[in-house]
Amino acid sequence: MILGNWKMYKTNKEAQSYVKTLLPLVENLDVLIGLAVPFTAISLCAELVADSSVMIGAQNMHSADEGAFTGEIAGKMLQEAGAEFVVLGHSERRVSFHETNEEIGKKVSRALEEGLKVVLCVGESLEQRKKGCEEHLEEQLSSALSGVKKTLLKQVTIAYEPIWAIGTGKSAKPKDVEKTHMFLRAVLEQIHGKTYGKKLPILYGGSVKKANIESFLQESHIDGALVGGASLEATEFASMIALVS
Ligand code: PEP
Repeated sequence: MILGNWKMYKTNKEAQSYVKTLLPLVENLDVLIGLAVPFTAISLCAELVADSSVMIGAQNMHSADEGAFTGEIAGKMLQEAGAEFVVLGHSERRVSFHETNEEIGKKVSRALEEGLKVVLCVGESLEQRKKGCEEHLEEQLSSALSGVKKTLLKQVTIAYEPIWAIGTGKSAKPKDVEKTHMFLRAVLEQIHGKTYGKKLPILYGGSVKKANIESFLQESHIDGALVGGASLEATEFASMIALVS
């Protein structure tokens, strides 16, 4: 599974031209592809990808069903606009918008109830890594997933994104990521049992690009990638996907 996160980039005009360039380049590739696009581009992109295997998703949502939350967006709005998934707990939201584990947990439950797939991001800062980050990652996972019904768990994908690797050009080492993914899998098994814990895909994100994507995907516990900066150009993103298809 390869997901692109556009962050706060692309007007609808730019989104349209991107998707029209991307689709013919990836149509025969055996990879699950998703694009997390700005809210304004969801309907347009969902229409454009309608006959393809590309999924469109959002990058955030509110935890309430609806309400007086000026400037926010509800899961059911995303779903109706054509989003299939939503990225939750991205470190840019945790850091810049002070999202807490508790709030992210509520968003995860709401999104699943609304029929959206969830891509739950977890990851540590450099300081946390130096001190040993297992407890931190465990807390992020368990607070988001402990309350999720087992029947809905298969709609969840985890993205391990060390904060120090996001947008910095400094990716983690594939062998270190592999070890962390094995740890995350053990935590998932603790929370929901072996059968469920084993099944959740775990993606790696953090400065993934054409030059290193294969080294990550070679590892048996890295099920895909969440790509930010390198997903912004359609031909570049398509060629990365082709390398691992
Ligand atoms: C991201 O935004 O989730 C991300 C991993 O960004 P980048 O690939 O640019 O590091």
